Order: sequence, then C-alpha cells, then structure tokens
Amino acid sequence: MLGQMMTQPLLISSLIEHANHYHGQTEIISVETDGTVTETNWAQVAENARKLASALTKLGLALHDRIGTLAWNNRRHLEIYFATSGAGFVCHTVNPRLFPEQLTYIINHAQDQVLFFDATFIPLVAALKEHLTEVKHYVLMGPRNEDAISQIPDVQFYDDLIETGDAGFQWPCFDENTASSLCYTSGTTGNPKGVLYSHRSTVLHSFGSNTRDVIGFSAMDVVLPVVPMFHVNAWGSPYACAMSGSRMVLPGPDLHGEALVKLIDTYGVTLAMGVPTIWQGLLAYAEQSGSKLESLGRTVIGGAACPPSMIETFRETYRVETIHAWGMTEMSPLGTANHPLAKHGDLPVDAQHTLRESQGRPCFGVELKIVNDDGKELPNDGETQGDLLVRGYWVLDSYFQTQDQGLLQDGWFATGDVATIDPDGYMTVCDRSKDIIKSGGEWISSVELENIAVAHPKLATAAVVGVPHPKWDERPILVAVKADGEDPTEEELLAFFDGKIAKWQVPDKVVFTDALPLNATGKVLKRNLRAEFANVLDE
Ligand code: AMP
Repeated sequence: MLGQMMTQPLLISSLIEHANHYHGQTEIISVETDGTVTETNWAQVAENARKLASALTKLGLALHDRIGTLAWNNRRHLEIYFATSGAGFVCHTVNPRLFPEQLTYIINHAQDQVLFFDATFIPLVAALKEHLTEVKHYVLMGPRNEDAISQIPDVQFYDDLIETGDAGFQWPCFDENTASSLCYTSGTTGNPKGVLYSHRSTVLHSFGSNTRDVIGFSAMDVVLPVVPMFHVNAWGSPYACAMSGSRMVLPGPDLHGEALVKLIDTYGVTLAMGVPTIWQGLLAYAEQSGSKLESLGRTVIGGAACPPSMIETFRETYRVETIHAWGMTEMSPLGTANHPLAKHGDLPVDAQHTLRESQGRPCFGVELKIVNDDGKELPNDGETQGDLLVRGYWVLDSYFQTQDQGLLQDGWFATGDVATIDPDGYMTVCDRSKDIIKSGGEWISSVELENIAVAHPKLATAAVVGVPHPKWDERPILVAVKADGEDPTEEELLAFFDGKIAKWQVPDKVVFTDALPLNATGKVLKRNLRAEFANVLDE
C-alpha cells in the first residue's frame, strides 16, 4: 500500500479559524474613520466575520458573487475580507483614489452586488450611485448615520447588518480554486484590469510570505500595514497575519508621518509595511519629533524602488532593518524580497549593505527570468538587462472577464519591468520598460539616477524621465522638488552625480517643480512628466 495524505482544500476560512482558535485574544487595533481607536482581537474578528457571512448569505447572494469595498485599513474591513471570501463570495477591494469614471467602470465591470463603504466615502457613493448598475445593497461600515441616510436613502448599516447573522455560521467547504478576491490594476492607460485571486493562491501566498527570508510574520510581531487594504490586499498581510497570529495595527485614513509615528510608539509596532513615499513622511516626522521608533525592528518597503538612502537612514538612525521587496498586483503581490545569504557574512560591511539595496531573491513559489525582444533567455550575470518574466503559484493566468488572449508567453507572465538578475538570483529593477531611457542605443535606468538624486539633502523628492533629443533620441532630465527651506542650484544637483555613474548617464537638465504627479497607488506618473517637459532640451 502506497502512503497517502489527506486532501483538504486550501480555504481562507481556515486562516481566520486558526487565528480564532490559537490567537483569539491577540489584539487588533483599529483606527476608525473618525479617528477614534477600537481594540478588538482575532476571536472577535472571527465571530463578526461569521455573523456577516451569515447575514450576506441571508441576503440571497450566490457563490462567486462580488462584494465591493471602498474602505481604509480598519477592523470592519478585516472582517469583510474573511466573511466574504470564507462564505464563497469575492471580496472586491476598490481603490477610492481613482477617478469617479474609473470607479464606476470597475464596480460595474465587477458586477458588485453589495458595496461596503467607510463614512469618508458617503458623498462619493452618493454621487456614483445613479451610475452603478448592479449594486443592490449599500452598506455603511459603522452604526446608524443620519448623514448617510440623507444622501443615500436606502443605505444599510454594517453594525445592524451583522446582528441579523448567526455567530454559529459554518464556513462552507468548496474547491480551493474558487475565486476569493478581486483587485484592479491602477492602469495608467486604457481601462483598469481585474486580477482575480483564488483561495488556493491566497493561502499559498500566505505560506510564502510567512517564510523567514520573505517577510516571516510572527506571533511576536505587532504589524502595521500602511499599504492599503485596497492595494493588492495590503500585500496579503491580513491573511498572513491570521496564519501567524500576529497583532495588527490598522491605521485608518490618516497616513501622515505624525499619525504613523504615534501609532508605532503607542502600540509598539515591530513590523511596518508600505511604499517609499509613505516612509519619507514618517522619517521626516520622526526626526522632527525626536522619536527613536524604539519598537520597530523591520520595515517592508516595495511598490516602487526603495532608495538606498532610505534603507541607510532606517539602519543607521533607527536600527531598523529594511526588507526591500518587489511584486505586482498580478502576483498577489510578492515576487522577491531582499535578505542576505550565509556567504555574505564574510563580506566587508559596506558590501553587505550594498547587497541589501536590490529588490532581492524570488521566494519559493515564484520563478523569474529575463529575456530579450525575441523572447530568448538572457544570462543571470547581474549586468545584462532584459524584460522580466515570472511564473508561480500566485501569479495571474488571465485578467478577469476580458477578451485578452495569449497573455502568457510560453506559460510566463511578462511583468513590463526591465531587470537584471545576478547568479544568486538577486533581481534589480532598472525600470518599467516604458520608463527606461534610451540614449544613443544605450539604456539608462531612471531608478538608478533617482536613487542618487533623492539622497541629496536639499531635495524632498525627485524623478528622472527621458525626453526627446535631436542627436541621442532621448536624454534624461531630473525633475526635482526642493526640500522645505532649501534652494539648490542645477549645478550642485548635477555635480552630485559625479563619480557615482558614468558621465554620459548624468541628466542633461534639472527642472524644478512643486510636487510630482502621483497615480492612485502613489506612483509617479512619468507619462505626465514626459509630456510636460517634452521640449525642455530644445530651449
Ligand atoms: P502594482 O501592480 O500597482 O503594485 O505595480 C507593480 C509594479 O510596481 C511593478 O511591476 C514594478 O514596476 C513596480 N514595483 C513594485 N515594487 C517595486 C520595487 N521594490 N522596486 C521597483 N519597482 C517596484
């Protein structure tokens, strides 16, 4: 007789019930939309999730029905995550920072049946409502609210709705490939596209992110996901934290440096996650206020390239380790994370630090390769740049309800990033392929130039884009935002590149601006900068 193991489907309901049974009293801190703080725990989140799942089932929803959310990171949102997916519905987190036309498109395209929203978004929902063709239930995430009733007469209230549900609700058992959540890419061109995650991909992604050399959430951690729950499920942290029984601090709507530093110091946050722009504000406030970020041990930074100067500040000033990670909506999102190898212990300290700057090595469950224009695989020598392709257990196969055929290239997903990979698998993102600067047949990485520029003490932030040039096709220019009270000259900023990169890579010009244009997920809209400054080299 050959051995045989149980076959149990990988379901999201098992994550919340694990947290309930073994970490029930572990705290979840939630900053509500009005700024008040609620303390709950995994047992209460699980109970409310069961009640909500039961209430939604009583509304007559069917397996696979989509349920939209327009919400910040808070406890009700966490309960909705587990209630909807656990009951067999699809949790569709909508990014409220998108334009109203995009929101209408997304909510209609997803055919959301229910729309949960935070009080912040009452006016937004009231304005969108007449355009939303499928939504049957509008649910304000809170108690009864007269303002909501005056603007949305048929609104229901979360706190009333869950009371119609049964805390003894039994999670249904179904195929692990059933859809669990849906997230649309921010899409700088064309309509946004939906990425539909499954129970299986989500549970495997949680295992993956919980390995030691990826994020490795622990029951000892207090986790602050600053990355929004409407952006790739807060990088999967709600699921992974339920798996590990971590405490969570859900920051609500205020993501300014001051609010975040206070949360870290008040609740003893050990692990925080977010995009680089968020940490700029946090570091500025920490310096101003004198906070030492005492409790913080690790930050996970991704979503855009993390400047080495930021990693250094965290390390040298606050003794905080930065885990630089890379991923995308289409990858649930984790692809790579930067941790050292045993052999690096013998390197000089500076070299060890330099190694931590790249986007890191693929986690188990994700494979990477780089290819040229003909699809031919390129060497992993740390120098050759190519189009980055991925495949794995939690990578997109096709977008949600589109006609796109042949998305994959021989089973690999083209990320749209240009990267190098070294012999140990450390991957460095050079650019989005459309942002790389093609100067006289050579490629210049805008990310590399930006990393240098933002370390200049007189700059608040900066971006590098390629603009047309009569001789070289394209040349880089630096679009710079001055730090408060500083007035750097073009000459001193350009001199700052000396000795750090080849002379021909140094930008041709510096233009100053008050702020960089950002998209709904906080990424710089380089397309806008290219258009705005298209003629600066003609002058
Ligand atoms: P999104 O799907 O909105 O999360 O965007 C994914 C894209 O963000 C990737 O394809 C990269 O271009 C970029 N990105 C994410 N993480 C990083 C990182 N650590 N360094 C550089 N680019 C990143």
